[in-house]
Amino acid sequence: MDSLKIDNLTVTIDNKTILEDFNLEVKSGEIHAIMGPNGTGKSTLTKVVMGDPNYKIKKGHIYFNDIDITKMKVDGRARLGLFLGMQMPMEIEGVSNADFLRTALRSKEDNFKLYSFIKELDENVTKLKMDKEMIHRGINEGFSGGERKKNEILQMHILKPKVVMLDEIDSGLDVDSLKLVGQSVMEYYQKQKPAILLITHYQRLLDYIKPDYVHIMSDGKIIKSGDASLVKIIEEEGYDKIKESSASVRHEK
Ligand code: ADP
Ligand code: MG
Repeated sequence: MDSLKIDNLTVTIDNKTILEDFNLEVKSGEIHAIMGPNGTGKSTLTKVVMGDPNYKIKKGHIYFNDIDITKMKVDGRARLGLFLGMQMPMEIEGVSNADFLRTALRSKEDNFKLYSFIKELDENVTKLKMDKEMIHRGINEGFSGGERKKNEILQMHILKPKVVMLDEIDSGLDVDSLKLVGQSVMEYYQKQKPAILLITHYQRLLDYIKPDYVHIMSDGKIIKSGDASLVKIIEEEGYDKIKESSASVRHEK
């Protein structure tokens, strides 16, 4: 069993604290959803876990199983099996999707087989209803928002990560693509039983990807955790009210 453990993490950028004493553990076979207002630190959390050097870790640790990865570089974390489907995937000219995936996979797997790679790539592109020609284009070059998101999911299927973080994978997707992507993530989940950390604003993604735990994040920390029924409360009450009630609970203690 694999586990991603975030232990008392405090993160700053330009001397501004973004995450504060943040704690979370996600184990294989578990789906955790994080919801919360804009600018709360959700994307920062995923980027820091992936090893983005722009953020400064002031305090705390990140563990993958028993390995302290707090200071590990991005490629090391990726090789261990961490994956981030980004909110705004970048365009990288001059490196084709196929070349990128082949190189990434080769560095990760001892017995890389070109034929099965091509076959698997082809199958996944078809399933995700992506244009076949896209795999030979530069990474995300000229891709629409929705196509970029599908491309992230394609990478997930090929790289087979053990920890999958998906940052607003639903943004930019039309209803049909949302369903396709949601089902595609679930299919991966059933097959590989990864640990999943999902960031979203909307119930509609959670109709397809059913979370075991829902966390509400505000000002760089989790202020409330629960099961999927919490999503309904968020939709009815909004974040502000939950924030007020959690603050008063803390005050009473
Ligand atoms: P969320 O994903 O919850 O909307 P983010 O993690 O993107 O929030 O951002 C949290 C806060 O950190 C915001 O106030 C944002 O402006 C700030 N922030 C994030 N990344 C950077 C950066 N690279 N430089 C400066 N400020 C940043
Ligand atoms: Mg974000």
